[in-house]
Amino acid sequence: MPPRAGAAIVAAIVAVKTTGLIAQYLSIKQKVADAILFFRLGDFYEMFFEDAEVASRILDIQLTSRSKEGAPLCGVPYHSAEPYIARLLKAGHKVAICEQTPTGASRGLMPRQIVRIITPGTVNDELVLSADEKNYLSAVVPAPEGFALASVDVSTGEFRVTQLGNSASLLEEIRRLGPREVIAAPQLGEIAGRLTGLSLTRLDDSYWEPERAAEAIALRFGPPSVCLPPALAAAAGAALLYLQQTFGAELGHLRPPELYQASQYLQVDEVSRAHLELVVSSDGTRKGSLLSVLDQTRTAAGARTLASWLLYPLLDIDAIHRRQDAIEELFDADLGGAISAALGRIGDLERLVGRVASLKAGPRDCLKLRLALEAAGELKQAFGGFRSAELCRCAGEIDPLPEVAGQIAAALTDEPPMAVRDGGVIRPGYHPGADELRALSLDARSVIARLEARERERTGIGSLKVRYNQVFGYYLEITKAHLERAPADYERKQTLVGAERFTTPELKELERKILSAESGLKELEAELFLNLLRSVAAHTEALARTARAVGQLDCLVSLAQVARRRGYVRPIINNGTALTITDGRHPVLEANLKRGEFVPNDLQADPETRQLLLITGPNMAGKSTYLRQVALIVIMAQAGSFVSATQATMGLVDRIFTRIGARDDLRRGESTFMVEMRETARLLSGLSDRSLLLLDEVGRGTSTFDGLAIAWSLAEYLHDRTRATILFATHFHELTDLARERPRVKNLCMAVREWGGDVVFLRRVIEGAASRSYGIEVAKLAGLPESLLLRAREILNNLEQGELDANGMPRLARGRQRGAAQARQMDLFTPAEKRALDELKALDPDRLTPIEALNALNRLGREVRGEK
Ligand code: ADP
Repeated sequence: MPPRAGAAIVAAIVAVKTTGLIAQYLSIKQKVADAILFFRLGDFYEMFFEDAEVASRILDIQLTSRSKEGAPLCGVPYHSAEPYIARLLKAGHKVAICEQTPTGASRGLMPRQIVRIITPGTVNDELVLSADEKNYLSAVVPAPEGFALASVDVSTGEFRVTQLGNSASLLEEIRRLGPREVIAAPQLGEIAGRLTGLSLTRLDDSYWEPERAAEAIALRFGPPSVCLPPALAAAAGAALLYLQQTFGAELGHLRPPELYQASQYLQVDEVSRAHLELVVSSDGTRKGSLLSVLDQTRTAAGARTLASWLLYPLLDIDAIHRRQDAIEELFDADLGGAISAALGRIGDLERLVGRVASLKAGPRDCLKLRLALEAAGELKQAFGGFRSAELCRCAGEIDPLPEVAGQIAAALTDEPPMAVRDGGVIRPGYHPGADELRALSLDARSVIARLEARERERTGIGSLKVRYNQVFGYYLEITKAHLERAPADYERKQTLVGAERFTTPELKELERKILSAESGLKELEAELFLNLLRSVAAHTEALARTARAVGQLDCLVSLAQVARRRGYVRPIINNGTALTITDGRHPVLEANLKRGEFVPNDLQADPETRQLLLITGPNMAGKSTYLRQVALIVIMAQAGSFVSATQATMGLVDRIFTRIGARDDLRRGESTFMVEMRETARLLSGLSDRSLLLLDEVGRGTSTFDGLAIAWSLAEYLHDRTRATILFATHFHELTDLARERPRVKNLCMAVREWGGDVVFLRRVIEGAASRSYGIEVAKLAGLPESLLLRAREILNNLEQGELDANGMPRLARGRQRGAAQARQMDLFTPAEKRALDELKALDPDRLTPIEALNALNRLGREVRGEK
């Protein structure tokens, strides 16, 4: 049955008591205002009003309206609703399922009630989940100092909690996790409103009581396993309670909440992550991101692990070294044969385990689990010969659980169905009771075949058939032509146009036997399958550990493969703060160019001597690419990966901030300049001597002088007040004069060559300052008319004449050279005011008559006001 807008239902509604049904609908809808209500009407789930409008758009199904009031309406068949529900959940909506509860009465309105609410953060259905992304539900509650945040991925059992000091870091961490759904405590107030684009549910106080939370946690994980401060317990407890209500199954696979600190990892804020296109590119997809270049994983768990390594780069040198050692060992190994084959057959073991442990798995999931465990065994064996600590640890954690695989193999048929209700789940020979019922039904079928043959002989009708259908059960069918030969003991059952259907007492008895054997078998199969699931679920911990280790191995293999293919090297990570890169390349741009087309560049930065590197050069010369590649190399290094360079040495970086490119945020009604200044303000706090700051074209969104002034003072501020490493790219070549005044400022520029009046970009970063901005040459390349360019050159000449003062010093830096007090005076007074001030200083009140004093006052006043 295809989805349709329910024309028949419209008629049905009108026929039933119209107002009654809609009144019932509205009273139920009231309880689930934030969910799309699937309202069961006969064979359809119907949606009305706004729900219908939203759903018809997302599901691409036709919207009609109820005939009388014109209420919008659309519907989907109840037996194939799952894919539609999945699409709504993927779009971030909740779905409430409202079923009919038959009373036996044939007249009047059927009672209905909500039987389940499905939410995006509490499902583990393959249809809804994205294979390569985590599916977090996050819970937020204010804590004595800041906020507590708990996040659960019910598809894998991961459960983590952390405390954030203020609302900005809370929002940052939520954006980094990217939860599918957030539940918030009432006290969260307007902060909840800033979680735009996320599915948000506010839960009342009862969910956040620390005692109730502690109880729920203790009940699930046992009291000694976790001891969380009250606010963290409240967040974890609320997540748990909400899951228990909505998930509708066992939660035996959840791991106890694990405490972490956002500051244990290299922090790259949301804006910088987007600028750097770390896990998604500017078009919102993975394509074109760093992740897409590094991701050669074969399993979904591996892909998810890699994404989280890039989002959470390490600040622990030993842990980074362990990943590097593993990649180095894999670099020279044969990753094609057994390893690749085993990884290719494992599938999404992590989520399979989640479904089995929550007893939501179907027979086919179990079969996949068996195959995955067999492949995991091969993987463990293939890693047997490796020596690095991380590979040994992962291989050691893989437990292929042969007894579990054996149990599944013994119990299930070779090709089990998706759902238990379809039958054919349990292997013959596994259970005597099931064998008996199966034999009974099979036997009865052969008895039926014999009965058919006998009746044909008795009646002499060759075309007589014994058939079965769901409504009438078993029957004997005789065509009209042979009807008079039907024996007297045949009871008429149904009349068709060309045939008559009969039954006999013997057939009835057989039918009873077959049907009861078949339904008995299905029931028994369901029971046996559940027992199987339970006994497999008893191994959840080992299974989950195995799945995680497989994901990590896959991730390491992928990084090693990419490193080898693309010529990456192992970076040297030390305790210092200097950063040197030789022949660095932008990993994504390089991957998109032909071999050798990307021009590699070096970097030497050191907070003690080369702290602020000013990079000048025309637009399109490659400045922002250079900035980004430095940040990406640092992130790759701290994620444990090899890097796109021929050599790299670095200390650990604690934060990366970027201000790259100007873009309007029109959605929030902010101009380019406002966004730019806001981002600049944001990055001035919290800089340490381990921070890396990338600034590209600061001061672009306003007038030249304003912009230059802000860029200049920002550079001074950063040099004087911080020891962060700063790459400052600008097209204001005037800024290069800063290097004359500030010891740790060094000039770099993008090499360009002038060739017959044109500029040629060499894409090489060299020491020194750009002599000019080359804006007009770039404009020429872009095809502006010659006469316009000529005039621009003339104007530029005029402007440049006034740049240096009589001493050959840049006028722009003048304030600092003549002393701060004078500079302030210069700023405060216009020439007229200055004249009046001088005159005032020269006045001697003791020698003035009152009239002279009045006149002087009058004159001074006029002078200051600018009057003649
Ligand atoms: P800018 O920031 O100076 O305006 P970009 O960094 O945006 O310049 O670079 C402009 C274009 O030049 C990029 O889109 C890229 O295609 C190319 N490019 C930049 N750096 C390199 C490089 N090192 N090698 C090859 N092409 C490059």
